[in-house]
Amino acid sequence: MSAEAVDILIAGGGPVGAALALALEGGGHSVVLAEARNADSNGPQSTTPGDARAIALSYSSRLILERLHAWSKLPVTPIKTIHISQQGGFGRTVIRAGDCDLPALGYVVNYTDLQHSLLAAPCTAERLFGARLTGFDGGEAVVQTAEGERVFAPRLTVFADGARVADGGKAPGFTKDYRQTALVAWVKAEQEHNSRAWERFTPEGPLALLPHATGYALVWTSSPERSAQLAALDTPAFLARLRNAFGGRAGEFTDAGERSAFPLMLRYRREEALPRSVSVGNAAQSLHPVAGQGFNLGLRDAWELARLVRDTREPGSASFIDSYRRARALDRRAGIGFTDSLVGLFSNSNALLGLGRGAGLLALDLAPFARRFVARRMIYGARGLP
Ligand SMILES: Cc1cc2nc3c(=O)[nH]c(=O)nc-3n(C[C@H](O)[C@H](O)[C@H](O)COP(=O)(O)OP(=O)(O)OC[C@H]3O[C@@H](n4cnc5c(N)ncnc54)[C@H](O)[C@@H]3O)c2cc1C
Repeated sequence: MSAEAVDILIAGGGPVGAALALALEGGGHSVVLAEARNADSNGPQSTTPGDARAIALSYSSRLILERLHAWSKLPVTPIKTIHISQQGGFGRTVIRAGDCDLPALGYVVNYTDLQHSLLAAPCTAERLFGARLTGFDGGEAVVQTAEGERVFAPRLTVFADGARVADGGKAPGFTKDYRQTALVAWVKAEQEHNSRAWERFTPEGPLALLPHATGYALVWTSSPERSAQLAALDTPAFLARLRNAFGGRAGEFTDAGERSAFPLMLRYRREEALPRSVSVGNAAQSLHPVAGQGFNLGLRDAWELARLVRDTREPGSASFIDSYRRARALDRRAGIGFTDSLVGLFSNSNALLGLGRGAGLLALDLAPFARRFVARRMIYGARGLP
């Protein structure tokens, strides 16, 4: 079988791969996007249940999604205030959109809505569903579809598959298992959320309530054992535990949707194992959700890669791959370091660290400049506006 020539093959049509296909529009390159899941579970008309996780989009991601024509129909809930506190300790701070002169600090969207919106936007790339990359040797790429195998000879292959599986895990990288699981669920509280997000650090891990539609998207991090116990409780018992861990700031919790669990680890690639390939999004770095950075960072990977592709004649060359790696290094390092240190600092019952945390939150509360710095870092990343 002779291989089909294509400029860019994107393996993975999750939110980052789908965004990359849009960002490459108009650049004059032929693009194929291969997504392993079927169209039914990805298309805008999908009837299958989607991924339960909610994603907090930063304001900078909004700017990128607007340019990709994937923003206007996205059902989002704005975050105007973030309240940060620690369980069983003093110190708390409140970050407001006004601190950064922005209409919102971020926006909460359901993962599946985000993916649907990106896949529904007009795009000339050939988008294949039920199409899994099963082999890549640095030259040819094999994609298995329902109709049979297709072999491509891409000038550049982009891993957007969310995990290091497509290259058999050959790339040199780093993995740290946090021994934590994020339990996610939609919960309803007595009081309206008024666009306020809550982040509460507990010795077991952070607990976040993000304003979402008429309730909250809960992300409750704890040990895998405790998460399994919480997932198995009936709704009234689960809500009582949540009340215990979070307190009464949002009023009583009145209902909870289905719970889903995500094991958490830090994983990133140091370099690619094979020539003519790069990684974006979770394929490049998977982060703990504590700071809501994973997708936002991945979207900036896609945006930067598309910008560089537009300016090159040879997207798979070693010099191109090196320039992409260098262009993303600072932002990636900062995102990974910031998130990993937050997990270490706040998922800890050490009394001294507890005092330090309290003092840090208090200092942040009293110093508008520091608050503004932290907020802008979370919104725009280390490299500023896209
Ligand atoms: C509980 C939780 C909360 C989170 N909250 C936030 C948040 O608030 N803000 C934020 O920015 N980030 C958040 N994240 C991180 C965010 O979900 C990820 O960073 C984001 O989903 C990465 O998108 P992706 O497209 O790179 O990968 P994925 O979402 O994993 O998508 C990968 C896609 O590739 C496809 N695929 C896999 N293998 C193949 C193959 N061989 N061939 C073809 N296709 C393939 C899959 O079907 C999938 O569609 C959170 C994560 C978790 C677990």
